[in-house]
Amino acid sequence: MATGETIAAHGGRLINLVVGEHPAQAVREQARSLPAIRLNSRTLSDVELLAIGGYSPLDGFMTQADYRSVVNDMHLANGLPWSMPITLAVSEQEARSITEGGAAALENEAGQLVAVLEVREKFSYDKQDEARKAYRTDDETHPGVAALYAQGDVLIGGPLKVLDVPAHDDFQRYRLTPAQTRAAFAARGWRTVVGFQTRNPVHRAHEYIQKCAMEIVDGLLLHPLVGDTKSDDIPADVRMRCYEVLIDNYYPADRVVLSVNPAAMRYAGPREAIFHALVRKNYGCTHFIVGRDHAGVGNYYGTFDAQLIFNEFDPQALGITPLMFEHSFFCKKCDGLASVKTCPHSPEDRVSLSGTQVRNMLTGGIAPPPEFSRPEVAKVLIDAMQERVTPHHAI
Ligand SMILES: [Zn+2]
Repeated sequence: MATGETIAAHGGRLINLVVGEHPAQAVREQARSLPAIRLNSRTLSDVELLAIGGYSPLDGFMTQADYRSVVNDMHLANGLPWSMPITLAVSEQEARSITEGGAAALENEAGQLVAVLEVREKFSYDKQDEARKAYRTDDETHPGVAALYAQGDVLIGGPLKVLDVPAHDDFQRYRLTPAQTRAAFAARGWRTVVGFQTRNPVHRAHEYIQKCAMEIVDGLLLHPLVGDTKSDDIPADVRMRCYEVLIDNYYPADRVVLSVNPAAMRYAGPREAIFHALVRKNYGCTHFIVGRDHAGVGNYYGTFDAQLIFNEFDPQALGITPLMFEHSFFCKKCDGLASVKTCPHSPEDRVSLSGTQVRNMLTGGIAPPPEFSRPEVAKVLIDAMQERVTPHHAI
């Protein structure tokens, strides 16, 4: 670990799969004669995270030994903790033109060459088994399971050579790679950093949890996820505006870095909490906030499953320290934000609103009470609701 670095990447070395200018020409030449695979937005965001080292130590899509070990045991074949399969699925028809020991050209949705995959293995897999183990359900209405069932029946694994990090035209100033967030932390002299994962708009309870964590570390990485989410989640651009007004008004600028995580949501609850923590370790975080029902959806996971799963891992091997938080709220008797760990009062003394209540208030143009949402954040959300009458797909 170099001086000034917060924490080494998972596995010890931050991966970078982007080839230089000259090798890129050779890769383009090579790709011309290769079978092409068209990536969907979800797989493309995996290529991006692989390319920039967000998934270190992975250097490509999983081969069979890693895949089986991760699905069955939440560790890579070499023994490192890893909880989610990172795979490239193709149809049986596509698989016919792909040979082990050969290579495949990976293209984005516009048909542009993104990367070349050296195909080490081509193998079949059991989707229902993966669903039951990784998602703890084989229910096809679970959004992560639905995406798994919709993908091809053959997996191809091997290392990637990436031509360029996939281009985006949104959130450009916030698209820091793990190397860049690490440099940002070093420039601020931070030795400890807490990461906060979110796919939801930020209310005072989140702010409270973030600030509790900030009291014991040097800085905060706010790392909202901007890859694919469910269509009824609040769009990423709106969530980002909420963070901007919150930081401008309520956070010391030299204690926060706001950046985006290009990953897609898998909604795998407990397993995804581990995955989110390891990805943030690669971005340079030493600590990671795990709230109630982290990365959950519907009623598939118990409220504290995403916290309890950390007990199944060797803390040294994980490396990043989870900070577990309870339900928090504004309590009128405490006259401040608190949680069930710190407030002795009854539910009637607490300002609490359900997600549905908040949504109904916002669509009606009504700001939630200031004890629940900062007025600046409420305004962003109300404005967004007025602009978009119907739920909108996340950008
Ligand atoms: Zn209280």
